[in-house]
Amino acid sequence: MHTAPAPLVDRFGRVHTDLRVSLTDRCNLRCTYCMPAEGLNWLPKAEVLTDDEIVRLAQIAVRRLGIASVRLTGGEPLLRRGLPGLVARLTELGVDLSLTTNGIGLARMAGELKAAGLRRVNVSLDTLRPERYQAITRRDRIADVFAGLAAARDAGLAPVKVNAVPVRGVNDDEIVELVEFAAGHGYLMRFIESMPLDAQGAWDRSAMITADELLGILGARWELEPLRREPTRGGTPPAEEFRIAGTDTVVGVIASVTRPFCGTCDRVRLTADGQLRNCLFATEESDLRALLRGGADDSAIEQAWRNTIARKGPGHEINSADFVQPERPMSAIGG
Ligand code: SAM
Ligand code: SF4
Repeated sequence: MHTAPAPLVDRFGRVHTDLRVSLTDRCNLRCTYCMPAEGLNWLPKAEVLTDDEIVRLAQIAVRRLGIASVRLTGGEPLLRRGLPGLVARLTELGVDLSLTTNGIGLARMAGELKAAGLRRVNVSLDTLRPERYQAITRRDRIADVFAGLAAARDAGLAPVKVNAVPVRGVNDDEIVELVEFAAGHGYLMRFIESMPLDAQGAWDRSAMITADELLGILGARWELEPLRREPTRGGTPPAEEFRIAGTDTVVGVIASVTRPFCGTCDRVRLTADGQLRNCLFATEESDLRALLRGGADDSAIEQAWRNTIARKGPGHEINSADFVQPERPMSAIGG
């Protein structure tokens, strides 16, 4: 028997209902804006949460804290062994389950993941050109991504979203083509502003294509109609969406840097090694793995979780002179 969960509220009144879980910090690509060519020092296996530990934390999150949606990410989550089994166990908790992936391996796994209860996928793809894909990701795998996208759509993992990070001089000449590609294949295109979360600390604000610029490029090609953002249980979704007039094509823009949405953030993040973070940009973490492995009961874990959210700040400081990039890069936090 369970009582109704008490909402996970911070001191600014934000209710947290969305949990991002990183399943691994490893990756089979080396995207230039994410990690160096040689990769990173991956976490030792013993430090990574087991399936049982992830399910236990998710159960506490759902039953005690009111978490309603879980997104699996990484690193590359498809690299996690036994992923369909974990998806099935998380599905049993009754959450809205989705996955962010680079798409490599999705062609093989889409059907199995759908059958296990996965609802939706976001697939990262920054270019349609094989040589450019290789330059951005340092791997020659674009054909696997195209196949993965198609398999996800055919398996009914709907909607299939394509995420691209537009960077000046890298892929900003493909913005219109990416939208046409997505529309032509039944995917939903989304552009994400590049953020200072790369492992090399090489983020360059002047190379970021801002939402204003992006909308300028799209607006020069099509008439865009802003769509109303439907509030979720917790906050307002970060993507601003636009319909291309006279069509059913929708484009999303996530302007984390120039139009921060921290005021309505409903997210909490769990790293692959069991550290709870109240923000992508948080500089402190709470060690839930130590609690789990030290034999803590559900109430103690619930309390640690609430304490972490209680310390959440009003918003990220990317645009302030005091900004400190978190020690962990995006691939180790779970983007
Ligand atoms: N490997 C999976 C993937 O690429 O989709 C999941 C993890 S990846 C860290 C999640 C998302 O973060 C991807 O869409 C990727 O493009 C994005 N990303 C990585 N580094 C970024 C950065 N510095 N700024 C903005 N987005 C970034
Ligand atoms: Fe891997 Fe995703 Fe980072 Fe690219 S963005 S290196 S696919 S974790």
